[in-house]
Order: sequence, then C-alpha cells, then structure tokens
Amino acid sequence: MKKLRWGLIGASTIGRERVIDAIKQTGGEISNVFSTNAARGAAYANEFAIAGSTTNLNDLLDSPIDAVYIATTNDLHHDQCVAAAKAGKHVLCEKPLATNLADALSMVTACKVANVELATNHHLRGAATHRAMRGALKSGQIGRPLAIKVIHAGYLPAHLQGWRLTNPAAGAGAILDLTVHDADLMRFLIDDDAASVVAMIQNSGMATAGVEDAAMGVITFRSGILGQFHDGFTTKYIRTSAEIHGDSGSLVATNCMTQSPVGEVVLRTANGESNLPLEHENLYVRTINAFNAAISGEGKSLSTGEDGAASLAIALAALESARTKSVVDISS
Ligand code: NDP
Repeated sequence: MKKLRWGLIGASTIGRERVIDAIKQTGGEISNVFSTNAARGAAYANEFAIAGSTTNLNDLLDSPIDAVYIATTNDLHHDQCVAAAKAGKHVLCEKPLATNLADALSMVTACKVANVELATNHHLRGAATHRAMRGALKSGQIGRPLAIKVIHAGYLPAHLQGWRLTNPAAGAGAILDLTVHDADLMRFLIDDDAASVVAMIQNSGMATAGVEDAAMGVITFRSGILGQFHDGFTTKYIRTSAEIHGDSGSLVATNCMTQSPVGEVVLRTANGESNLPLEHENLYVRTINAFNAAISGEGKSLSTGEDGAASLAIALAALESARTKSVVDISS
C-alpha cells in the first residue's frame, strides 16, 4: 500500500490530539499545513515537524501531496473539499461533512467527478467494541434486532468550549457534534438506514441561547428498529454506552463512545452473560489505514462520503424535529 503525502487543512485540536499521530503511524508524511493565521500555522508546523505552513489554500493544493485532512470548522469543509477534489487530492474530512445536506452531496459529487476518495472521519466505526457488536449481531448471537441505544453525552473540556457552543454558522451544537456520530454508528451497527427522527433539545446555559448543549431523540430505521440517542456537553459523571437489543439477546457496550481504544461489551442471552473478546486498536489509525486501502483499490473507507451525507441528513432532521416539534421523515 502506498504511503501517502498529506497536507492538513486547519491547524486543529483534533489534528493535534489524535490525527497527526495516526497519520504518522500509518506511514504518512505531512508536508504542509493551511491556517488562516500565519503565526498559528507556523507554530503548529513547528510543533509537529511539518515542513511548511501557508495561509493560501491553493499553495497547499498545488504542492506535491496525495491527500488532505480537513479539520476546520464545519462551515468551511465544503469549499475546501471541493477545491481539494478539483486539485486531484484525496480527502479525509471531519464530521459533520457540512452544515447542510446540499453541500455534503456536492462534496460527494465533486470527489466522484475528480475520481478521488472522500472519507468521513467517523472514527467510532474503528472501535473494537463496535466492530465486535456488529460481528455478534451479524452472526445471529442476539437474534432479530429490535432496538439500539447510544449514550454519547459527557462534559465538553474547557479547551473545546469555543465555536461548538457559540457559533451557529460554524455548525455549533450537540447534534451536529455528537448526534451525527451516533447516526453513523447506528447505521454501521445494524446496517440500516433511517426513515424518520424525533428529537428534543436542551440549553442548560453552557451554550449560547439558541444553541443546544444536549439532545435526546429517537430514530426509526427502515427495518422498524428503534434507535435512541442521548448527547450532550454538560454531564460530568455520565458513562457512555451503546446497546443493541434483539429478541434472543442483548449487547451492551460501556465506555465506548470515545476517541480512545477502550471499553467493554457484554453479551446477555438465556445462557447468561459473557464479555466479547476485544482487540483494542487506535481508532484513527484504523480509519486512516482503511482510507489508504480505498485509495489503493484494496478496500473501502470505514465511513465514506455517502455515509457522511447520510449521518448529516439524520442530524439535520433531528435539529428540524426539535425546532418544529414534529417527526421528520428522511428521504433516501
Ligand atoms: P478547533 O477549534 O481546534 O479548530 C478549528 C479551526 O479553528 C482551525 O481550523 C483553526 O483555524 C481555528 N483555531 C484553532 N485554534 C485556534 C485558536 N487558538 N484561536 C483561534 N482559532 C483557532 O476545532 P476541532 O479540532 O475541535 O474541530 C475541527 C473539526 O474536527 C470539526 O469539524 C469537528 O467537528 C471535528 N472533530 C472531529 C472529531 C473526531 O473524533 N472525529 C473530534 C473533534 C473534532 P485555522 O485553520 O485557520 O488556523
């Protein structure tokens, strides 16, 4: 598999905390970082021994790189992705792909037309916990699935309490930040698409008025499976989880809605309880390895551009539901 030469679009926290290390672990080389602020870009390049930084996106796209990692605020993903695709670069884009569905679909089309890979960084598909749950479901260990539930609420760390809480234009709020991940994970776990969503939101004072800092809701899947989510930035002592309940067993994962390779999964059936064997692995390394494999024609990205558009459609429907106090259908 070819080792990729990367450019970073955005001097981001997620790059700093997770993705730069994962790119390096996959053998990738990062040669340039784009930032709107020259000093921030230069400091970031220096911090990670990246050869160059630029405030001109075209300079980065004209440089000899194979792929870009887009980790700017959500409103910027569309234009940056389309520009990268036009320059013939493969794109690993952060979630949510965009702040509206038309933009997400246009990103998918632009990458298809340019014949470049578009992957969405829904890293939770890479978790050993979730892969084991999907495997157990597929091998019939819980029978026919009836319900799926995700708790992805926690406490937003102080250093992330910026645009996520205050800037609706940038895609603020718990739904675009967290529910979008849940939507992708549920689609992955049960291999089904959403038919409708109903949601309610809360503003407890952490976020600016008009921006939700927590949300709960129910997704109805096309097969009839009901999915429940609880997302938020405000609860310090909650434990994350993902559960699938079937007619002959249940799978309960705890401490799994996270960036780290941790958590456990219990299978509960008429035979009692047992822990599923797990081989934990860096979720972001797994995501990037799959992206590399897709580019080499040896596999598929864990979450594609189409998957990113589908998860965004669910999140946007949840927002619409909360605002209109109605059940919102999701078209295919
Ligand atoms: P950051 O706020 O760290 O970065 C977003 C942008 O803000 C950067 O592009 C940068 O602009 C600017 N910025 C960074 N630091 C500063 C600063 N000190 N002062 C002013 N501006 C600054 O965002 P995140 O890294 O948290 O999120 C980026 C994207 O990644 C989002 O789409 C988010 O949803 C996604 N994300 C995904 C995660 C995952 O696990 N899949 C986890 C966390 C985030 P510039 O580039 O111009 O320098």
